Amino acid sequence: MASVVNPIRDRLQYSLGYLQGRSFALPRSLSELYGALVAKGTSLTASVLPFLSVLALPLYGGSTGTVNFVFFFLTWSALVISHDQLTLELYGTLLVRCFCFLLPALATLAFDIAVPKVSKSLKARGERQLPTRHGRDKLLAIVAVAVCNVLLEGFLQAGLELLFTRVLHLKSLVKVNSFVPLPWDIFTSLIQGLVIRGVLHYAIHRFVLHTNPSILRTWHLDWQHSVEHPFSLVAAYDHPVNHLLAVWLPTILPAVLFRWHVLTWYLFLTIASLEELLVFSGYSVLPSAIILPGMARRTEAHFDSVRKGDKAGNFGHLGLLDFLLRTACSSEGTIVDDVKDEAKERQLQERIEAAVQAAMAGMEDRKANNKVEDGQQDDTDQHQIPDEDSKAGAADDNDGSEEEGEPADRRPSAPPSRKYGRFCFW
Ligand SMILES: [Zn+2]
Repeated sequence: MASVVNPIRDRLQYSLGYLQGRSFALPRSLSELYGALVAKGTSLTASVLPFLSVLALPLYGGSTGTVNFVFFFLTWSALVISHDQLTLELYGTLLVRCFCFLLPALATLAFDIAVPKVSKSLKARGERQLPTRHGRDKLLAIVAVAVCNVLLEGFLQAGLELLFTRVLHLKSLVKVNSFVPLPWDIFTSLIQGLVIRGVLHYAIHRFVLHTNPSILRTWHLDWQHSVEHPFSLVAAYDHPVNHLLAVWLPTILPAVLFRWHVLTWYLFLTIASLEELLVFSGYSVLPSAIILPGMARRTEAHFDSVRKGDKAGNFGHLGLLDFLLRTACSSEGTIVDDVKDEAKERQLQERIEAAVQAAMAGMEDRKANNKVEDGQQDDTDQHQIPDEDSKAGAADDNDGSEEEGEPADRRPSAPPSRKYGRFCFW
């Protein structure tokens, strides 16, 4: 009995002493509280700045790739040496989520509210898709829930890391060291991650949040599908349990399963965050010709199908699983249609470019012919030989193919006619 009680008593005494020691550090007056807050804020800012420099170096470095990489490596190594693993992982995660999803999503919402006339011209469905239609209270609720859900992701990740490393004494969820992973390793990890995330999100969204009756399904319909047309923040507007299950879990699971390097995790999270930001944005102008516009249309079709009470479809991110498993919404084209349209558009683009090149070549040839003609005219004027025989001779040299009375050098030369011939069928 004593062997059980004694360790518990020791642990309690240790915890009590620890808390007493910590309590002395707590502020006892308003000025001490102010000083503590300023010190904490300064330390947070000082920690964030090196992170931003690491994230920005590959994008904005003005030097060559090798120099950029060396700077990146040195900055990253300094960060790893000067911060503990948990801080690095969580600060980076929150920064990526804030700068690649939350802040741009809030900025687009502010833009939609501030200049609705401009915004509706950019929205795929015009005025109907403006978030202002939902009213101030609903918009505030969406903003609050989306911000809380993003912060919740960070807290949960921190909790899991603490559980794994401090309680269970296992390895951390992701690797944090001064090495930088090789590009091929990053590429294969990203592909693995996208496949796992896509399959898991599709399965949870389809079977847990839509098909099978449950409280989670009710929450999903009452929260996220209460929004008529999606805009960026709606990607994180769902019941927290649903958000963690359908959005956060599929994203973090591949990183934990394969114990990625934290830089690979940052990159994967950046891709996932930008995808959510753009696919839910509702804007018709997106920085991609084929994938993102199709994904955005299918997301809108998913909201339409639920709102109209039709059979719900388009559960996946990319649309490939919906196409293969026949759950695509009939009102919207599948990913295969997108690929076909893109192929047609590219063919058309190539033809236009070739036609422009041929037209320019024809113009240059015409200029050259005119110069030659002018030169010959000068020679004729100089020599004053208005001889009928010479004209006949010139006609004979042209095998009699030209029209009567037309000088040989006014015919289009052979190369341009071949180039134009290529486009005649078009
Ligand atoms: Zn849904």
